[in-house]
Amino acid sequence: MADPELVDVVVVGLGVGGEEVAGRLAEAGLSVVGVERDLVGGECPYWGCVPSKMMIRAANAIAEARRVDGLAGSAEVRPDWAPVARRIREEATDTWDDTVAVQRFTGKGGRFVRGTARLDGPGRVRVGERVFQAQHGIVLGTGTRPSVPPVDGLADTPYWTNRQAIEVEELPESLLVLGGGAIGLELAQVFARFGVRVTVVEALDRVLAVEEPEASEVAAAALRADGVEIHTGVRAERVSHDGQGFTLRGAGGAEFTADRLLVVTGRRAHLDELGLDTVGVDAGRRYLTVDDRLHVTEGIWAVGDVTGEGAFTHVAMYQAGIVVADVLDHARRADAGADPSGTASATGGAAGSGAGGSARAVPRADYRALPRVTFTDPEVGAVGLTEHQARERGVNVQVGLARLPSSARGWIHKAGNEGFVKLVADADEGVLIGATSVGPAGGEVLSALVVAVHAAVPLARLRQMIYAYPTFHRAIEDALRDMS
Ligand SMILES: Cc1cc2nc3c(=O)[nH]c(=O)nc-3n(C[C@H](O)[C@H](O)[C@H](O)COP(=O)(O)OP(=O)(O)OC[C@H]3O[C@@H](n4cnc5c(N)ncnc54)[C@H](O)[C@@H]3O)c2cc1C
Repeated sequence: MADPELVDVVVVGLGVGGEEVAGRLAEAGLSVVGVERDLVGGECPYWGCVPSKMMIRAANAIAEARRVDGLAGSAEVRPDWAPVARRIREEATDTWDDTVAVQRFTGKGGRFVRGTARLDGPGRVRVGERVFQAQHGIVLGTGTRPSVPPVDGLADTPYWTNRQAIEVEELPESLLVLGGGAIGLELAQVFARFGVRVTVVEALDRVLAVEEPEASEVAAAALRADGVEIHTGVRAERVSHDGQGFTLRGAGGAEFTADRLLVVTGRRAHLDELGLDTVGVDAGRRYLTVDDRLHVTEGIWAVGDVTGEGAFTHVAMYQAGIVVADVLDHARRADAGADPSGTASATGGAAGSGAGGSARAVPRADYRALPRVTFTDPEVGAVGLTEHQARERGVNVQVGLARLPSSARGWIHKAGNEGFVKLVADADEGVLIGATSVGPAGGEVLSALVVAVHAAVPLARLRQMIYAYPTFHRAIEDALRDMS
């Protein structure tokens, strides 16, 4: 076995979170090795956020064109998947090639290693035959993979995950979507708008079950209006494929058939592959347990989906900022001799200057105002707690709700105006602790509500604000008025 290569930091997994951490630490002057087994950039640019939002953009253009009738004359729409597939291939993913992303990282001074990494004892990471000894830390940004339920027969069929759905060049005639969460609904609506016969099967009693029940109702109605069949409360029991198509049998005997089956029943981290036992960390958990500076254990940080704090790109980016600050702080203190276990930086670079940096300067992670958006049409934006979550926590809850169709802008907008703003307040504190904004611009309207929850803006202040007329966000004022 070769001698370990001495470096400052090893980042395992260069998805959204890992790439950001590795790039910024390299720019700060540390010697950084970034290891990626698949594509630098991770799920978001190649099989997640970016291509799915390109699909949604195209599908929404179709839906808007169909709304011309009754508003602006008439329009004939002939959907064609070819430009969407081409845009994903050429503009979003470079045909799933990460050359540009690798250059982006090495251009910042990082060293790139392609391969699968495993921890190999304190401070050590193994990639094949190579072993790296990290002086200042290891960052795990290994993300998640689709979680496929143990349904009888499913594993033997050619089912799709998000990856095949994003890469598809020719649409099937019919599609079964197993899972009515955010990803399932977004993709179901896209394919339906392009003429695919789509059926969504969800085990829980409503789609988008983590959001407010009113949001589930509006989203389900919107998808049904697009021709999507939705079956809730159906637990899949058996799946088979006869060479032509799929049959899914639900508990209770219901049967569904389609040309393709898309399984989008959540995602999970694969901790067992990381060699966590070699550093005394329990690999039996669902996610890596981290503190508010993303520490896993001495000398190891985690970032992104693998922490289980919210599977969103904006969470990975937010956490990356904290990890970068904390690793640099550790490096500075080690170089200054403040950390008894610390040794000098392998490069003696920028991180070694300004010795004696204080841990107090490192921000702590706080997820109370974590926003989330499901990019269906209408969009479902939410922040903080739902009414149910707040009540479960024993909060003295106050709720206000305003429907968009009865607001000035909603009435003007007419076709496609479904939605609402719902506010959840802590009546004792007089502040918002959660909010949901559903509508044509639900994700954008959400930003004002995120500020309100994040900064704990008093309700009295929000009531005194001037809300531009006739915007969708004026529904916030109506919902405040509705609060009881
Ligand atoms: C269809 C879809 C749509 C989405 N839409 C949105 C959206 O609109 N907005 C949003 O905020 N989020 C969205 N997400 C979620 C978003 O993609 C993730 O939250 C984000 O990619 C998480 O980044 P990450 O760095 O934690 O993990 P990932 O992006 O999963 O990256 C982890 C990387 O680690 C690598 N890796 C794993 N193990 C090893 C190892 N042992 N050695 C070397 N490399 C390893 C993997 O190959 C991977 O590249 C979507 C996801 C999907 C699937």
